[in-house]
Amino acid sequence: MRIGRGLKVGAAIFVMSPVALGLLIIIFLVMSADDEGGGGDRSELTSGGLRIGEGAVPPQYASLIEKAANDCDAGLSPALLAAQLMQESGFNPRAGSPAGAQGIAQFIPDTWAAEGFDANGDGKASVWDPEDAIPSQGRMMCKLMKSAKKHPNYRGSPSELALAGYNAGWFRVVQFEGVPPKHWAKGETYNYVRIIMANVPKLTAPDDSAAESDSASGWALPVKAPLGTPYHQRGGMWSSGYHTGIDFPVPVGTTIKTAGPGTVVSAGPGGPYGNQVIIRHSDGMYSQYAHLSSLTVSAGQKIKAGQKIGLSGATGNVSGPHLHMEIRNSPAYGTDIDPLRYLRQHGVTV
Ligand SMILES: [Zn+2]
Repeated sequence: MRIGRGLKVGAAIFVMSPVALGLLIIIFLVMSADDEGGGGDRSELTSGGLRIGEGAVPPQYASLIEKAANDCDAGLSPALLAAQLMQESGFNPRAGSPAGAQGIAQFIPDTWAAEGFDANGDGKASVWDPEDAIPSQGRMMCKLMKSAKKHPNYRGSPSELALAGYNAGWFRVVQFEGVPPKHWAKGETYNYVRIIMANVPKLTAPDDSAAESDSASGWALPVKAPLGTPYHQRGGMWSSGYHTGIDFPVPVGTTIKTAGPGTVVSAGPGGPYGNQVIIRHSDGMYSQYAHLSSLTVSAGQKIKAGQKIGLSGATGNVSGPHLHMEIRNSPAYGTDIDPLRYLRQHGVTV
């Protein structure tokens, strides 16, 4: 089932105005904080949960990376930036390359001249200074994420497309309508994206309480029902031009369970999505459940595999009762990835 035309209007506002989206997130935070009687869930959205220490993110760069990601209003993941730095320089601020790339984020001089800025305000934009290079990397990746989101038909998630743009230039992403293929440039960009994406979970802190149950066996469909409208079905009723999740047509009042263990980031009204729950998982990905009639969890709460989160409904803009579910790179609208592919990677048979 499709979300009604109202979503186009509602969601178009988010797309056109990142400030509005930011405000919405703040509203969620404030609302959740009120529900909880404290602001305990704030860190869920802003810290990004980097895994810090040997073999992971060096502690001296963690807050720079988190700030660079959180300054972006396009759903940029801190772990993605960290994995990129690991691949670019192994977190070495003095790194160089035969191609002339410099510093921890491996900018070539021309790119640094265009994208680098004096983030720490010491009067000099230095490619060798992580306090300038990491925020510049974040700003450039943020721009690339925004470009990527304008092309939902390209092959690759927004994060993958942004990485490809950083490595090969956005014009190459446009040329190939996605991540450049394996055979291009000896697979350099293809492998760059593949390696970084594979390292993102390794640089993401585990959800402490959920870590042990977060295995392939802990994942399942949120409801036992046939699939309705598939992911990426195209249509003018969606602001992005395509369906950003999958639908399960079920009667109002059907029990909805989490797809996997994690922490509730928000639980409450979500505009066109009606009553919704957004859960952050230990790999830094998020799942969203929309149009619910009632919620049985609240923000900040740890959720076990298979735990009930609410009852299905027809709240928000819908043409009939159903569960709409998304998998996202961030809590924000527009960062969706293919949910079935993600669920299958977690051992769900569907
Ligand atoms: Zn839907």
